[in-house]
Amino acid sequence: MSGEPKKILRIALAGNPNSGKTTLFNALTGAHHKVGNYPGVTVEKREGSRFRAGREYRFIDLPGIYSLTAYSMDEVVTRDFLLDERPDLIMDVLDSTNLERHLYLCLQFQELGIPVVGALNMSDEADAKGIRVDEKALSAILGVPMTKTVGTHGGGVEALLDLADAVAYGPSLSVPAAESAGLFKMSAGMGGPRRSILYGTELEERLDPLEKVLSGDVAFCARFPARWLAVKLLEKDAHAYEALKSHSDFVVAEQLAKEAVLWVERHYRKDAEIVVSEQRYGYIRGAVKEAVSIVRKPDFSVTEMIDKVIMNRFLALPIFVAVLYGVFQTTFVLGEYPMAWLETFFSWLGGGFQDLIPAGFLRSLVVDGIIGGVGGVFSFVPLIVILFFLLSLLEDVGYMSRAAFATDKFLHSFGLHGQSIFPMMLGFGCSVPAIMAARTLKSPRDRIVTILVIPFMSCGAKLPIYVLLSAAFFPEHAANLVMSMYAIGVALSLMSAFLLKKTILKGDPTPFVMELPPYRAPTIRGLMWHVGEKSWLYIKKAGTVILATSLLIWVVTTFPRYESAAPEQNLEYSIAGRLGRIIEPIFSPLGFDWKIGVAVITGFAAKETVVSTLGVLYRVGQEADSADENLRSALRADPGLNPLKGFVLMLFMLLIPPCFATLATIRVELGSQWLIFSFVWLFGLGWGLSFLVYRIGMFAGW
Ligand code: GDP
Ligand code: MG
Repeated sequence: MSGEPKKILRIALAGNPNSGKTTLFNALTGAHHKVGNYPGVTVEKREGSRFRAGREYRFIDLPGIYSLTAYSMDEVVTRDFLLDERPDLIMDVLDSTNLERHLYLCLQFQELGIPVVGALNMSDEADAKGIRVDEKALSAILGVPMTKTVGTHGGGVEALLDLADAVAYGPSLSVPAAESAGLFKMSAGMGGPRRSILYGTELEERLDPLEKVLSGDVAFCARFPARWLAVKLLEKDAHAYEALKSHSDFVVAEQLAKEAVLWVERHYRKDAEIVVSEQRYGYIRGAVKEAVSIVRKPDFSVTEMIDKVIMNRFLALPIFVAVLYGVFQTTFVLGEYPMAWLETFFSWLGGGFQDLIPAGFLRSLVVDGIIGGVGGVFSFVPLIVILFFLLSLLEDVGYMSRAAFATDKFLHSFGLHGQSIFPMMLGFGCSVPAIMAARTLKSPRDRIVTILVIPFMSCGAKLPIYVLLSAAFFPEHAANLVMSMYAIGVALSLMSAFLLKKTILKGDPTPFVMELPPYRAPTIRGLMWHVGEKSWLYIKKAGTVILATSLLIWVVTTFPRYESAAPEQNLEYSIAGRLGRIIEPIFSPLGFDWKIGVAVITGFAAKETVVSTLGVLYRVGQEADSADENLRSALRADPGLNPLKGFVLMLFMLLIPPCFATLATIRVELGSQWLIFSFVWLFGLGWGLSFLVYRIGMFAGW
């Protein structure tokens, strides 16, 4: 790099999914990582620093992608980041056991004109498989300095930083032999001329004039490097044509690009995009032939053997269902213990304050409002954490991609996609990370459908509502009823997806393109990372939205009051009671009175608060152990409720729009129109179905 050496080096970690970017990121940054929210982009990109010899290396862990042609959200995010933020260096993380595929992206990074270094990751696995990579030869052929790494135990990390130093601070790279052999093209890039591969005389003859015209607009090329854009235009990349519109010589450049595409397609009798990618693969094959040798063929592959069973045509789906069932059972069985501890802790805490603070508003505020409200929510954190842990485990081991394959056909018949399965399963924990996970879906339509049906997956916060109501009204069949709620949710999500895909989101299904990674032993560090990230979203919600709601609920159920009245009267007299009365007409056709109305409203803030609201509304004492049973009997004793209404209420809670945090996430991900659509759809379906069940039930005399 010319001029004063920069003290801070901004390095983007990029590469295919599952190449080990996050693992390497953790190894590089050690304990200094933090989860950063990028302005303008909603995906959470991780950023972390490493200091060495007075220099700071700032790493950004980008979403994994297969190509810089932006189809999926992840690809758009990564590509926009590289174009707009212009990191000083791209650290391309490659899976050494699958170089032919992973190098494809490397060549595209190179064209961006940003310096690239390669991390030949998973080199331990390559060694074990008898794949020998000559990194010196590979670096020379590709013009990208590379070194071997093992992300899982941080092997090769220092050498990788040395490479980064050499590229960023060292003298400009000498011209390797390959260059004089006519393999590269030099073009303007950051910090001096940059190499990129040549696409053969015929394509270069089309690219050359195009690049010249593009280079005419210097400001434009600062954002879209001429070489890169010329290739993208030849690939008929829609985003590239969009970008071209801001070029000063737009008309000429577009004309030239279209002529080039036409010429190539006529000459090769093939799609121009395919011609370009074949050239790239040809180049890569040459490089791999030179630099990679298979010392010995592995006798058998464990992955293949396991997949013979797990991916069997007939067994795959039943195995998936069994795995899902296992995940749930484990979550609930293991979750019971920490949940009980936390409940004990919070009731102990509440009891302590009960004794500390004299009776009055303050005591009621602290004990009922804050500790009662937030404690009720935190008790569910272990459940969520365990669920996320198990799902992350499945993801890290490599099962999740198989689940996507196994369910793809089934989900397709409902207009969903195999890749929808992971976001939907996360939805059982919390909708917020689930909706964000839908970013991996390629087609915008698939992504919208997936996001819209996620609220049907009963999230962790709805569970206590089911547990309370089924125990209160169906003590004999409580467990079955809870399960049936989950099942109804799944069935309705499939139905909704089907309807959406048949009507407003009509379109061809996108083909399934995803590689099956080999099974890998998960690392504790990686797991902690994934679990921590997803759970944090949930805990943040508990600490902010739910705390605020608890306080608000306390206020609206406490004020205004007239002294000396009985508690129930006081409640009716309070703001909550009055509001409940106002909206009662919405709920009375379903058989609910104002109290349920109040619970539904607080449920919008967070579903976790429904149970505690009912507790307040029915004024059951907070005395530790018996609180649950008290509330159950209070519900049973309410003449306004009965088993039918209990069931309808569960159904209603399952279907009505999710909490604010989820709605806000939908808005961020899809925009206000889809948010409104989702809200109306869920409320309409929830209300309509509840009404139907209630009326039929009444008629049948249930
Ligand atoms: P990302 O999708 O690129 O962020 O990949 P991850 O960092 O999540 O890694 C995917 C899987 O590969 C995880 O199970 C890692 O533990 C594993 N992994 C990462 N680097 C290595 C490595 O160098 N060697 C081996 N054997 N496994 C690795
Ligand atoms: Mg990652």
